[in-house]
Amino acid sequence: MSTVCVPPGFEEHAKLFFRIYDLESSHTCPEMKMTGLKPKTSRRCRFCGNSYSPNTKFRKDAHLFPNLLGNRYLVSDFECDRCNSTFSKYENDLANFLGASRVLNDVKGKEKIKFVSPEKSLRAEKTNLSNIQEGILPEGLLFDRDNISDQTFTFDKNTGQAKITYTKPSYRPINVYKIFLKMALSCIKEEDTKYFKRTLEILMTKELDGSIESLCTMGVYTQHIAGGYPAPIGFLYRRKDTTSFIYPAYVFALYFQNYIYQMFIPYCIFDLPLYFKSAIPYIWSPPVFSTEVEIPKITYSPINLGRTDMVKGEKHSVNFKVSQDELTNIVRYDPATKTTEASQLDLENAKGIFFIDENARINIPKE
Ligand SMILES: [Zn+2]
Repeated sequence: MSTVCVPPGFEEHAKLFFRIYDLESSHTCPEMKMTGLKPKTSRRCRFCGNSYSPNTKFRKDAHLFPNLLGNRYLVSDFECDRCNSTFSKYENDLANFLGASRVLNDVKGKEKIKFVSPEKSLRAEKTNLSNIQEGILPEGLLFDRDNISDQTFTFDKNTGQAKITYTKPSYRPINVYKIFLKMALSCIKEEDTKYFKRTLEILMTKELDGSIESLCTMGVYTQHIAGGYPAPIGFLYRRKDTTSFIYPAYVFALYFQNYIYQMFIPYCIFDLPLYFKSAIPYIWSPPVFSTEVEIPKITYSPINLGRTDMVKGEKHSVNFKVSQDELTNIVRYDPATKTTEASQLDLENAKGIFFIDENARINIPKE
């Protein structure tokens, strides 16, 4: 870990963490199809334990991290089609849990992402708004609503602070947890998977769902920077000393979009003494960056994804700030009459909000 750095304020945390853990492996998404995978007929699924047979096929591309997080080509040769379709269902919960933030962070998945809130009152998508008039606007991110009095947009004209609030589609937290757990287990070396028999039971059966809530705590760092990670990166950390039982043996961190989600992998065979304690003590890895990037402002919040019932009607907000210059220097363009006039920004009564790159050009046709 010599070429990485941590944001200001995380130095002590980093020292402590790396005293206990080593980076075991990092997993980045390649730009093109992978080669060197095992032939399908000699594959064994690490999740259900079945080897290739007429009943266990490996026809589908098994993405190590979900395609919906921007992973196109990082695939494994140890996930059978049946397990793959189980995990696809959990991925739907993950997509709903992330809500519009996927569009906001412009994740490059298989399809063009479009977010529609459950009551269909808000849509978010990448578009060039060509339905308004060709050639005026570059591609950008559109938040569009049907009813301008629905309070989706709130805006403080004095400070420029703006908020888009919408309802997330329903999701089951335990399934979101399980898709992270599946990613973590996918990063374990083949020969080490034998340490996770009980973990696999948690992942593969529903019977234990109600009893593992306390283990489903995750640490989330949010970076306040535009862009983030277009494709996910996974870091697997392993405790240096296998005979000390202070912290769990494995910690997994996934960097994607503007987030870093972390978990300890529960029920590793080395950790069993920890499970006699009332709560598992854990320490999250610090956010790490390569020295080339400008280190962003980061906030931390823990979440628990142990709930087994469906979460319905959860609100989520996207916050942004309009600068003083933008507040006072507004030009209104009417595509019907092709005229412009000086105006005031009134986001609360806007039909939609369209974000474009600050360096992009808007071509307003001459009257
Ligand atoms: Zn399987």
